[in-house]
Amino acid sequence: MKATHQAKKNSTQPSLRQLPSVETLLESASLSHAIARYTRPLVIESIRQILAELRQNIRSNQSPPTLSIDAIAQLITQHLSKEWPGFAQPVINATGIILHTNLGRAPLSAPALEALSNISGHYFNLESDLHGGTRGNRTMELRKLLAIASGAEDALAVNNNTAAMLLVLIALAGGKEAIISRGELVQIGSGFRIPEILEQSGVVLREVGTTNQTSARDYEKAINNRTGIIVKVHQSNFVQKGFVSQTSIEELSILARKAHLPLVYDLGNGVLLDTAAFGLEHEPTVTEALRDGADIVCFSGDKLIGGPQAGIIAGKHEYIRLMLNHPLLRVIRLDKLSAIALEATIKSYLANTAVTDIPIWQMIGLKIEDLRVRARIVARILKAHGIDASVQDGICLVGGGTLPEQGLPTALIRLTPSGAVDEIALKLRLSSPPLITRVEKDAILIDLRTVYTDQDALLPGIITAAWA
Ligand SMILES: *Cc1c(COP(=O)(O)O)cnc(C)c1O
Repeated sequence: MKATHQAKKNSTQPSLRQLPSVETLLESASLSHAIARYTRPLVIESIRQILAELRQNIRSNQSPPTLSIDAIAQLITQHLSKEWPGFAQPVINATGIILHTNLGRAPLSAPALEALSNISGHYFNLESDLHGGTRGNRTMELRKLLAIASGAEDALAVNNNTAAMLLVLIALAGGKEAIISRGELVQIGSGFRIPEILEQSGVVLREVGTTNQTSARDYEKAINNRTGIIVKVHQSNFVQKGFVSQTSIEELSILARKAHLPLVYDLGNGVLLDTAAFGLEHEPTVTEALRDGADIVCFSGDKLIGGPQAGIIAGKHEYIRLMLNHPLLRVIRLDKLSAIALEATIKSYLANTAVTDIPIWQMIGLKIEDLRVRARIVARILKAHGIDASVQDGICLVGGGTLPEQGLPTALIRLTPSGAVDEIALKLRLSSPPLITRVEKDAILIDLRTVYTDQDALLPGIITAAWA
């Protein structure tokens, strides 16, 4: 079979036997960089795929007449960069979206990174009481820090805010009913829907009111002897306008106290700073929510806290204790690396250095005049390379399902390529490091608010290469 196939073959086609072996390719100098970057097993995988394609091409007479090792190595390198475009490298976020869910939400602060590098490579007193020499609880110190920072009696951190809500529901209202306004049965991102979390918790959803109007009376009428909890959910990623009214935490807390029910407020974005000081709308802070009467407040560690992925539960000690004693806690507990990073992040708030330490607050705090200066410098270099670049004012978003209507004024570099905008955007995303931009119909927009200052110098090289 094989012999006849080969005999019939066009004489300008290389034969299958001329293809180098996997071993030969692996040892070739042209793939040594690829091995260093992607590791041997991944390179072998790509070699096998490319060789299989080449064999197929030879059989169907579609191969180029000669196949040098270098040419094959190049195909393999291209294949690797397609398969692993973001392999172990940071990206430059030039979208201006500060909490970019697809780019890992909040980047960690320098103190959090330092704590991770100082502590996580060693044994550390995670659950060891250094005074008594017995099994203790370092997480207790994190709890105390969280409580002090949020103005709560007690606090607890788990895997994420979704897990936090699940624990709250199961530990405080397992098998009972939760009363929630129809205007707050929200979906956050792609995976968090309040009704689905309730379903998983086994707590029965008791919807009250309507989409746009829910009064304290609606909640009151729904309270019965099966009620286990009253839940308020912050409409964090959308706004309702017009004939709209939801019940405040103050009003709900009066009801909850009368009926001896816990009142939980899913804030989503717990803020510990006043967003109004940054020219943003005022987001309810964790401390305000507790002061207004919420018994328990839940929020994410990687939204407006600007820390690692975590779900923080803050509030009354009697309720936190029920959660601490619940077996579900073990399933959703915060991992040790996040605990280290969260502790360092919270310390920045207590030290009053959050605005300078924590990247998201640095970015939110950047002045438009400074952004314009940086944008002009980059644009000038690009223009010197013959690229059509201009600077204009625009609006950027905080993102991450927070402050949905809220824009921050920003400075944009507008690039107008002569060719297809999508193709250039793709080239930018596949450069090293990848550059993620905003894409308009006929322009690429670079928003420096989310670009670290020391990344500015990388932009001209990446952009000119994509234009070439
Ligand atoms: C973001 C958000 C959540 C989900 O938090 P994760 O930390 O992503 O699990 C839940 N509720 C609200 C109101 C949110 O904004």
